[in-house]
Order: sequence, then structure tokens, then C-alpha cells
Amino acid sequence: MNVDNLLKQLSTKEKIGQLLQLAPFHFNVDLKSEVAGRVRSLNIDTEGIFLSGSVLGIRNAEEMLDIQKKYLDNSKHQIPLIIMADIIHGYETIFPVPIALASSFNPRMAFETARISAIEASTAGIHVTFSPMADLSRDPRWGRVVESFGEDPYLAGVLAANMVKGYQNDGIEKVGNLAACVKHFAAYGASEAGRDYNTVDVSRTALHNTYLKSYKKALDAGARMVMTAFNVLDGVPATINQYLLRTVLRDLWKSDVVTISDYDSLKQVLDHGCAENEKDAAYRAIQAGLDIEMASVCYVNYLEKLIEEGIVDIQKLDEAVLRVLNLKKDLGLFDNPYKGASVVREKELLRSKKHFEISKKIALESAVLLKNEKVLPLNKKQKIALIGPYARSKSTNGPWSWHGNIEHNKSLEEVFVNHKINLVYTSEAESINQIEHSDYDQILKADMVVLALGENTRLSGEARSRSDIKLPNQQETLVKMSHTLNKKVVVILFNGRPLDLTNIIESDAILESWFLGSCAADAIFDLIYGIANPSGKLPMSFPRSVGQIPVYYNHLNTGRPLLETNKNNEFLSRYLDIENTPLFNFGYGLSYSSFIYSNLRISQLEFDVDTQLRVSIDVTNESQIPGYEVVQLYIRDHTAQISRPVKELKKFEKVWLGSKDTKTVEFSLDIHDLSYYDAYGNEIYDSGKFTIMVGSNSQETMKIDIWLKGVKHDYQKQ
Ligand code: BGC
Repeated sequence: MNVDNLLKQLSTKEKIGQLLQLAPFHFNVDLKSEVAGRVRSLNIDTEGIFLSGSVLGIRNAEEMLDIQKKYLDNSKHQIPLIIMADIIHGYETIFPVPIALASSFNPRMAFETARISAIEASTAGIHVTFSPMADLSRDPRWGRVVESFGEDPYLAGVLAANMVKGYQNDGIEKVGNLAACVKHFAAYGASEAGRDYNTVDVSRTALHNTYLKSYKKALDAGARMVMTAFNVLDGVPATINQYLLRTVLRDLWKSDVVTISDYDSLKQVLDHGCAENEKDAAYRAIQAGLDIEMASVCYVNYLEKLIEEGIVDIQKLDEAVLRVLNLKKDLGLFDNPYKGASVVREKELLRSKKHFEISKKIALESAVLLKNEKVLPLNKKQKIALIGPYARSKSTNGPWSWHGNIEHNKSLEEVFVNHKINLVYTSEAESINQIEHSDYDQILKADMVVLALGENTRLSGEARSRSDIKLPNQQETLVKMSHTLNKKVVVILFNGRPLDLTNIIESDAILESWFLGSCAADAIFDLIYGIANPSGKLPMSFPRSVGQIPVYYNHLNTGRPLLETNKNNEFLSRYLDIENTPLFNFGYGLSYSSFIYSNLRISQLEFDVDTQLRVSIDVTNESQIPGYEVVQLYIRDHTAQISRPVKELKKFEKVWLGSKDTKTVEFSLDIHDLSYYDAYGNEIYDSGKFTIMVGSNSQETMKIDIWLKGVKHDYQKQ
């Protein structure tokens, strides 16, 4: 297929159609009639041709085959539709939500999640997934932290890149692979006060050094599309933001990916007060470099006029359409428009035993043990009282799991019963108010209280921000009740964001299980009974209170910093009523093993820009219990032209250590690991001191200072 020739054959109207994405699924009506209905309502019924280039959402293979056929039967040029969908953490087999996946600190798990999602979703004829979400998130009030990889640009970037590789695998033209669309470009996670869709106001240095990095890594891994964000940046809505869509994406990164608006976000430029009308919005978007418009119809209704009136150069339209046609070609759709969609493959592949096994394996690595006062692992002989809203619930899939039917999941109670645990009492009570007087007699018979607490799945996700991030509905009272009854208490948390756990910190053990997907209950059972050893680490800090937010490990140093040595000084950067540190810090997570770090060493203390540094450390498992440890390397640049974070994760490795094993973990660092960006996106490095820190989490590390020599400071660049 020669797409240049094809483009020449298209009328302006037909070209513009390629830039329209219909979004019928979200209107909750029958897709078949909706495709026709929507197009008709746009008054673009030229000879009955369906003028759209792609569709959002599809229910199954049967529907896809039907729609594509109807579309092609009416299409003069036989240009197939691309089917796009939100396949976020699994299709029918559901994997841990992204914040949980990030807790695995295991890039391989990200790859496998995406791989199986692609295999399953492509059976419905889906070609593009709106994933990964690479938005950095530092505010747990924001509901979409559940879809994010947390607060660190490096971790988020590595995981986003591995998801892209998993989706696209050995080529987007092949059946069983999907093209990845990284979102939401850019800095959507920085919405003020964590309120979804709110204003974003970040500096250009923060943008280049912090927010853009994870999208860039996903693009470097080959992602074929970028979705814009709902927010403004420098006051300009991301969907019409020339700096993002042209300067950064095309000029700086030399990327030729297809760009797409977020749902209706082009029309919402009017809500931002940045366009007079839809025609004006269309003008600003095509000038900025937006290719596909999702759901709204500014392009379809006004681009042609803008071109006729000479306001928009047709070349801008052609460039966008060419990118879309090339994507269709690369997806192999001209050769096989029905690619992937197969009722037979659906039966074979969806929710297969193998896929469920992998989902469980990933779940085992994604839970984080936050506290354990020698109560875990539990003993199967202990009598258990299982209480809380998640005791009998199967709702462990979390947000964005449309196709994942929770009926295929198990509840904790079911799994406890399957394992013949002596459950002396089970209740879905949310608080002490729902416990009857007679229930206490039962609870008193237990050796241990297991509380399955958390947020309802609808409390996190898109448009699900909370100003109070404590456990809801007085669930905290159950911890106090257990202690009043003189019982040890193990809390298992199901939630989509870091919570304020200060009121339940007295619990004897806390396991953060997020939403672990289809096999959550089985995985949790294995972890709390020691069949598996917890290894997850936090990808995001847990605050001591909402008043501390945003609290994240990779902050800049301040003037008048709070140091151990000057704690008595009154004039310090701190609160009067609370510590500066979070309750649980980035990179933190316990294991049943105990790991000791020793012998941090580096190949040289002075280095120049061409040096490849080798950093090594010995890690010993002192316990009898084999387990994974995530070895983390952080740096600090002490003498830069702009203030740099007190710590930045640069490398990590998850290693398996048998009982009493010692392993030497080696990392290599080059100048790009030590550099940073100026406000224009230029890479900078300066002579001076760096500290290399290696350890088990962002707070507990061993340190070495090293010096970069021979680079002149060039303050002019500011
Ligand atoms: C969300 C996107 C999603 C899109 C399509 C929007 O509301 O912000 O993340 O991909 O809808 O479903």
C-alpha cells in the first residue's frame, strides 16, 4: 500500500474523516447503530460514506467484525478503521493495577502484564491500547494515581517502556500484538490539590527533569501514539499546546508518532477559555499538531472551512492524515482489516489457566508489607476472625477493568475455606457500629483478627479525587476494637492510592495489596501464610497527613533545611506539628527475609564525562527464608546550576537470595545518569561532587562521594 498515493486520492472531507475518532461505547448505546447515528448527526453523509478513521471501544470479536464490514462496505477507498480501547491492566484476565505493578519494581512483570493484555485484547480485533499511563503522580488525593507508576520518573519510565515492549512485542503488524498509546501528554498528574482535571502549573525545568522523562522512555521503547492531557501547561490546554506537540515531541524528540486528544478534550478548550468557538479550537489544534480528535467534532465540522478560507494550510492536514494512514499500514490493516478478531481465538485465549497463573505470579510481587510485628506469616492452625468490607468481596480488579468479570475472582473467605483455615467468625462489617453484641463472643474465640479493609473500587480512578485519604466509613474503629479485645490484628488493605494510615498504625501487621486483579485473594493468602515471601516496595510515599501533601522522596533541597545537626534552630523548613518525612517512604517494603548490605564500592572516585562507573554492593540474606530484594541506587548532585533533588533513583535490581546467600549487585553509571536538563531541554552536567547511595529503600542507604572533573560550569545557559 502506497499511502502517499492514497492520500492524493482523498477529498479534503475524506482526509478530515481520518482524524475523527468515534466514541460510541461511552454513550452506552449499541455500537452498530451508533456508528451510523453519530456520523449522520455530523451532517457528513457524503454518499453514505462513513467518515471516521477510528473507533474507541469494542465489546468483542463479533462486534468488531460486524462494524469493520459495514464500514468497508460503505467506504470508497477501503481504508479500514483502527479499533482503539483502554486496556490498562488486563483484558479479561486482570492484573494488578499499575500502582501495584510499580510496587513489584520488576520490569519483566510490566512486560508480561502488557503481553497477555495484548494477546487477549487482540482477539476482539482491538489494535491500539490507551496505555501505558506514564503520568508522574505525587499527590495521593488524585484518583488516577491508581493508574500511575507513582512518584519517580525513572521507575515510571522503565515500567512504561516495558509495557510498550510487551504490547508491541515483535511488531504491531502481527496478530496478538497491540500498538501502545502513551498518555496523558503532559504533566496530567501534577493537577493542583490532586483534583482531577485541575490546573497544572509546573516550571520548564520541572517539566524536563521530572514530568517528561517517563513519556520519553515509552516513546524510545517504540510507542506509536501519544494522547494529550486535559490540563493546561503554561496556561495552554495540552491538546492545543504547540510547545508540547511540536517543540518537544517533533523538534526535540524527533518523534513521528500519531497524536490523539483525550476524550472530548479538544472541545473542552472552550471550557478553558482558550478558543472563541469550535472552529477556533480546530484551528489551534491543527496548528499545534494534534492528529486525531477523540469524541468531539471540531475538526469534522470546521477544518474544511478553515482550509477553504486559507486560514489553515492543507499541508498541516496532510501531515496529520499521513501519520494516521501510515499507522494503519504498519498495523497491517490494509492487508487484513479484521486483524486479530476471532471468536475461536477468544474462546481459546481469554482467561486461560496460564494467564491466571501469570496474573497470580505478578500479584505476589506487587503487594507491599508495610508493618510486621512478628505476627506474619500466620500459622494455619490459628483460629481466625475475618472482618471488613473485603472479607467476602471479589471486587479486587480495581478501576479500568471493563472486561474483567469479578465472578471469576475469589473472595478471601473462599480461599481461607479452601485452605481449611479455622474461620471462627467472618463478617463484612465496615465499622464497630455494624458488630452486634453477640458477635464479640465469636471474635474472642479467634487467635488472630484479619481485617480486610480499604476503599471501594469507585473511590479511585478517573474523576475520583478525595480530600481525605483515611480509610473510609470508620473502618479504623475495627483496629481499635480488635486491640480492646486483646487480639493481634493483621490489616490487609485494598485501595488505589497511598492512604493516611496514622490511625491504624498500631496494627500488628499491614499488607498493602492495592487491587491485585483476578487472583488477588489467592496471592494474599500465599503471602500472609508464608507460602510466598512479600517483596513489593512502595512506588509512592504514604503521608502522615493530608497537610503534608505533596510529600515525595525526590524533592529539592531547601534553604534552611532541617538537618540532624541543626534541629534546635527555630527557622527551618518544617511544620510545627508534624515531621517532614512521610509515614512510609518511597522504595520501602518488608520481607520475611532479612537483608544486610555491606561493602559499597565504586570503580573510581574521580571521573570525567567519558567514564563508565561501576558501583557494587554485597547483599546478604541473613535469614532462613529465601526471598527477593530490590536493591536501589540513588544519586545526588551537589553542585549544579539549578537545585537538584536530594535523592534520585537511577538504577534498581530485583535479586533472589536463598537462605544465608550473599550476592554482589553491580550497577554501571555513565554521564547521562548524572546529568539533568535546563529549561529548554538541553542536557547539562557540571564538575563537582555527587553522592552515590545504595540500599533497601530511599531512606536507608550506604553512601560514597565522587567527583566529576573537567567540565566548565556554563551559567549563561540559564
Ligand atoms: C481518559 C483517558 C482514556 C479516554 C478514553 C478519558 O476520559 O482520561 O485516559 O484513555 O477517556 O476512554
